[in-house]
Amino acid sequence: MTTGTDRAVHGIEDIRAAVATAKDAGRSWAALGARERRAALLRWKRAMAGRADEFAEVIAAESGKPPHDARAEVLLTVVHLDWAARNARRVLGRRRVSSGLLSVHQRALLAYRPLGVIGVIGPWNYPLYTPMGSIGYAIAAGNAVVFKPSELTPGVGVLLARSFAEAVPGHADLLRTVTGPASTGAALAGADGPTGVDKIAFTGSPGTARKVAAACAATLTPLLAECGGKDAVLVAADADLDAAADAIVWGAMGNAGQTCAGVERVYAVASVHEELCARIVLRARALAPGDAYGPLTLPSQLDVVRRHVEQALADGGRAVLGGPDTSQTRTVGPVVLTGVPEDSPAVTEETFGPVVVVNPVRDMDEAVERADASAYSLGAAVFTRSRAAGLAVAERLGSGAVSVNSVLGFAAIPSLPFGGAGESGYGRIHGEEGLRAFGAPHSVTVRRFAPAVDLTSFATPRARAARAVELGRKLHARF
Ligand code: NAD
Repeated sequence: MTTGTDRAVHGIEDIRAAVATAKDAGRSWAALGARERRAALLRWKRAMAGRADEFAEVIAAESGKPPHDARAEVLLTVVHLDWAARNARRVLGRRRVSSGLLSVHQRALLAYRPLGVIGVIGPWNYPLYTPMGSIGYAIAAGNAVVFKPSELTPGVGVLLARSFAEAVPGHADLLRTVTGPASTGAALAGADGPTGVDKIAFTGSPGTARKVAAACAATLTPLLAECGGKDAVLVAADADLDAAADAIVWGAMGNAGQTCAGVERVYAVASVHEELCARIVLRARALAPGDAYGPLTLPSQLDVVRRHVEQALADGGRAVLGGPDTSQTRTVGPVVLTGVPEDSPAVTEETFGPVVVVNPVRDMDEAVERADASAYSLGAAVFTRSRAAGLAVAERLGSGAVSVNSVLGFAAIPSLPFGGAGESGYGRIHGEEGLRAFGAPHSVTVRRFAPAVDLTSFATPRARAARAVELGRKLHARF
């Protein structure tokens, strides 16, 4: 599916040219009314939905995921684009905000203006959905985008830009795709000198994020970093174990475990741990690798998966399904581990394979403690029959998003921001925050009348100004 054009290796000069062209296109896009932008984006959305099979075919061919997963990815993508298009004006458009007692004579206005050109660097695991969490929202916020897809999935990036140009021909250069390996991403981030990019939105591993951040630092280019995860599912004693096992297997094995917010750890209260393991094994054993999910996309990931499983067993863990031998080829069978020490790599590092560690805990307090002990902090899930208890646990968890009685529930809700902390990166995509991430707040005041005491004039007698300041101080000291 990848063509010669898709495999082009673009360097700094190509990137500078793409940014310059995109910047021009961005100016006329930003000058367009919010209503026209919304109409154009919805046209693009409808075109993508209409061409879902074509997108899914390229995604499946390049990433190796099954066609039905690729089609679901297209659906998720258009759901987000739809929301960004329909909500950009409400979230970013100029609105009046309170001026406060001290400035009652002023009218205060706030708007979010486009930043300019956003450089988007994407991963391969959800090659359309993940970068579009930045691209769709950035364009809806009035920006242009230069997109560097993963070198494993360049065709998705090329198709994406083409689909935009065809659906919105008057602004064809607004979304430019540049292709190539790490060096192309590095150049886009500014490692080879300034490019004119106004912000970088990066999705990938924390190691690469550090390099991107260092490149951005040279030009003080702001960065949004969406990195990996080591998400935990917490299972309470009263949980519906069938529902929990079903969700855990899907969250851990779906996309061959190559999901940033996939399930890699489970902490189950001791009284239900054994039964939960049995139900997870029952479901995971029934999966047909190659059909339920595809091979590991990155050949070198097989070594990581094997190392984590072997080390977990060497550290005293037990495989209740699969083991090191499960991973002879890139199509890895499901692996369920238990009793793995908390300092073993299968618990501390991102595995990115169909492997899940299911450890027992004393109670939900310990579950929260362990879930939060990770260097990653992206998503989490809680299973309990009491929704109130689930919500209470969710509020205690440090992760950026939590699903109660489902896994990854937040990913399909465009109004919910998504992002993490620590090794999982910083900043948010999706939702209102995801639109504001690509806007510069613009604050304006308009004086409505002369205030009783003008504190910004030398003409105000000092004693009068002092009395007003003292009055304000007393009010704040009191209330
Ligand atoms: P990666 O870090 O290897 O590569 C990501 C992108 O960065 C690729 O396009 C790559 O070419 C580019 N790149 C590599 N070196 C670069 C450099 N020095 N400067 C600039 N760009 C460079 O990540 P990957 O293997 O493609 O993706 C998997 C990772 O992405 C996992 O850690 C996964 O958890 C994470 N991820 C996170 C999210 C999220 O939203 N938090 C979503 C999907 C994937």
